[in-house]
Amino acid sequence: RSIRKKAAGAVSRHSMISRGDRVCVGVSGGKDSLALLHVLSSMAPVRGFELVPVTIDEGIPGYRDEALGIVAGFCASLGLEHHVRSYEDLYGITLEGALASRTGRESSCSICGVLRRRALDRATDELGADSVATGHNLDDIVQTVLINMMSGDAARIARMGQGAGSGAGARRIKPFCDIYESEIAFYAFSEGLPFQAESCPHMSEGIRTEVREFLNSLESRHGGIKNSLYRSAMAVAESMRQDPAPRRQISCPRCGAPCTGRICSVCSTLGRLGREGPRAPACAPAGA
Ligand code: SF4
Repeated sequence: RSIRKKAAGAVSRHSMISRGDRVCVGVSGGKDSLALLHVLSSMAPVRGFELVPVTIDEGIPGYRDEALGIVAGFCASLGLEHHVRSYEDLYGITLEGALASRTGRESSCSICGVLRRRALDRATDELGADSVATGHNLDDIVQTVLINMMSGDAARIARMGQGAGSGAGARRIKPFCDIYESEIAFYAFSEGLPFQAESCPHMSEGIRTEVREFLNSLESRHGGIKNSLYRSAMAVAESMRQDPAPRRQISCPRCGAPCTGRICSVCSTLGRLGREGPRAPACAPAGA
């Protein structure tokens, strides 16, 4: 009840969903996304919105296949139609293929994250949804704040938004933005959700795992520190958004997606992987 109440509070406080909305839900098959779909499915009939679950298949052998089966079964149990979009169809390359072609030191997750964001934007548009909900929780958000700070990309913090998210592409909402990961894990177990326990084989390659362990270690000795950091980061984001000199946004000359650099992050990533051929336009943004 506490989890449902907190999620409902975040949805209301940040005006995430309106009556009549069609909400795309990114469902990976992990505990957070299944818990999100479960919570939203109980909220939908009361608040009058519709759910459209979608799974992005990155093409990770032996990992994503199991998740696809779990999500398909879970959606069927909730009476929801499950949609799948793959990197292979969108970009002409699987994540494993992309990692085999990389020449630099980019982490698997930085490549995967850029491609997934666009894939979710496109799915949201194709499925006629008003927004895309993801299972990001308070821990995820605080980790991202620290990672952005450490990579020198403070401007990204302004685009994180107060749970609702902002920036180019589909409107992103994070109904679990006020909830700790441990609380969601408890919810998933207590509700008997059939989530995939196995982690992505690339999970520990990036810096996120180290940041998570650092924050958990701080939290164990200084209870509430993650929550304080989250509140501070959101206050900083809010004041950054009030900056009267926003970054100029242009259209990517290759695919037309809104971007602030020379080309968008997806075209840039695909270019570094040697995928500037005929499949590259598939990275075009929703509606382009
Ligand atoms: Fe992609 Fe990294 Fe997530 Fe694996 S852990 S699915 S590589 S973002």
